[in-house]
Amino acid sequence: MTAATAWGEDHFIAGDVALDFANTVYRRWPELGTDLYTSTDVLGTWLDRAHLLPASSGASRVITDRDLENARALRRLLWQVFDAQKDGQTIPAGAFAGLLGIASHGSAHVAVSPDGSMTSSNTDGALAILALRAITLVLNPPPQGIRACDRCGWFFIDSSRGRRRRWCSMKICGNQAKAARYRSTHS
Ligand SMILES: [Zn+2]
Repeated sequence: MTAATAWGEDHFIAGDVALDFANTVYRRWPELGTDLYTSTDVLGTWLDRAHLLPASSGASRVITDRDLENARALRRLLWQVFDAQKDGQTIPAGAFAGLLGIASHGSAHVAVSPDGSMTSSNTDGALAILALRAITLVLNPPPQGIRACDRCGWFFIDSSRGRRRRWCSMKICGNQAKAARYRSTHS
């Protein structure tokens, strides 16, 4: 049995919620790792933590298997779109159309504030917000671009000084890479 993922700060390191959402697998390279969305409840706690569902909706919040499937489908679209963006390639039209469809499907449940922030009362709306945030990143990319961790393939926006960030987080992949290099030169 797979243990439920306990979300922590290390799962929100990308600099944009759409990228954090794309990073909800153990790793993307060198092969696809375990899905961190181990259950509908775990998806729900991620959406809470990302502030995409109202706080303390608790028992009234129902996340279905269908919602989980939809979330995984959205995540696959984000991989296609952000991989293309990261590699300097044209965004795949089918994946982009998929994002527009998800945004449109849930848009009736999305409230947009004057400052551009969005909230929703249900999962369709939360997925629409994630699609809209991804579309925003595609159409208005950060000046430093979108990158992926050398070691695990998690996406991030490098806002470090000097823009030399190579890892999703120094604590996870940075230290593992250093340890591997140490082993390879000291054995
Ligand atoms: Zn990494």
